[in-house]
Amino acid sequence: MTEDVAGPAPAAVEITDLERPALQRYLASLGAEPYHARQLFAWLYRRGTTDPAGMTDLSRALRERLVTAASITTPVIARRDVSSDGTTKYLLTLGDGRQVESVFIPDTPRQTFCLSTQVGCAMKCAFCLTGRMGLVRNLRPGEIVGQVRVLARDLGLLDAPFNIVLMGMGEPLHNYDHTMAALRIMADAHGFALPARRVTLSTVGVLPALERLAAEPYMPNLAVSLHATTEDLRDRLVPVNRRYGLADLVQACARFPLKRRERITFEYVLLAGVNDSDAHARRLVALLAPVRAKVNLIPFNEAAGLPFARPSEPRIDAFAAILAARGVTVSVRKSRGRDIRAACGQLIVEGGARSPAQRMASLMT
Ligand code: SAH
Repeated sequence: MTEDVAGPAPAAVEITDLERPALQRYLASLGAEPYHARQLFAWLYRRGTTDPAGMTDLSRALRERLVTAASITTPVIARRDVSSDGTTKYLLTLGDGRQVESVFIPDTPRQTFCLSTQVGCAMKCAFCLTGRMGLVRNLRPGEIVGQVRVLARDLGLLDAPFNIVLMGMGEPLHNYDHTMAALRIMADAHGFALPARRVTLSTVGVLPALERLAAEPYMPNLAVSLHATTEDLRDRLVPVNRRYGLADLVQACARFPLKRRERITFEYVLLAGVNDSDAHARRLVALLAPVRAKVNLIPFNEAAGLPFARPSEPRIDAFAAILAARGVTVSVRKSRGRDIRAACGQLIVEGGARSPAQRMASLMT
């Protein structure tokens, strides 16, 4: 029989994109027992084994089936930059040659992985380098979780407890379904078993998606990138504000379901002469009055081509002091990995995020 008659082979199922219930259904469709999904999760996420041939508690027949019918794709480390403070920035190549960055932030007792949810970002915040790339594509659930698999394995931390912050490239609520699937995969008791309170999702506030999140059984910590206290200034700094404005965002946050003692973190990038005056600080206090909030000030991380400056230390302290004096819990984000451009808003994949091979291919067509 020629290939024409048989038609193309069915696309392999990507195991890493599947939550455990979906993996059970898939295994059932192969005639295998659904409980093998638990074993597969343990191999993938606890032991870091990606070749079905090495999954020795699965039957030989199932292993062979998986090798031929399924694929398990893992991002490949293209580059690793280690900062003087131990922060490590990884450039990872995905299955299609696109690249994203992920950051490991060492701390005791818990380590933090800062993950990307998209290649590039559509939000185009005025002070953020990733926005310069535009959105290239969404990451699949397995590509989001895969960042943890790769980094934890590279760092010898597969068994160590960790936190996740979705603060790398991309806007998590602009890739809602894949992001939530990734979080459920990471939460699975047979895999990383990562509790939701160890995860922080940071968003510019895509309102319809924020409303969906409010109704989720799986509830990560929420951080909202606010950055401005007037509609006009936020329109300019965070362009999505033209669609989902500040007043509506704050109202949605005030309604957001929180457990006892939980609060929403508001991130506020401090830009010298733009949003860092005493008047801005006082407006911020008033704006957040209806919300159970804490504020995380992020002094601007400078990058070539971004037309902003970092305020002086005394200005940062004065801004924080105004919040604190009015009873707002405030912290100033320590910048980690600035010397390797791994700090907030400095993640960008140069060269249009295409691999040399892809650039060659596009030149040849
Ligand atoms: N898209 C999400 C996730 C990115 S998190 C969000 O915007 O929340 C990255 C955080 O770093 C955001 O608060 C972002 O506004 C901030 N940031 C971006 N560029 C920055 C820069 N140059 N200096 C400091 N913070 C920056």
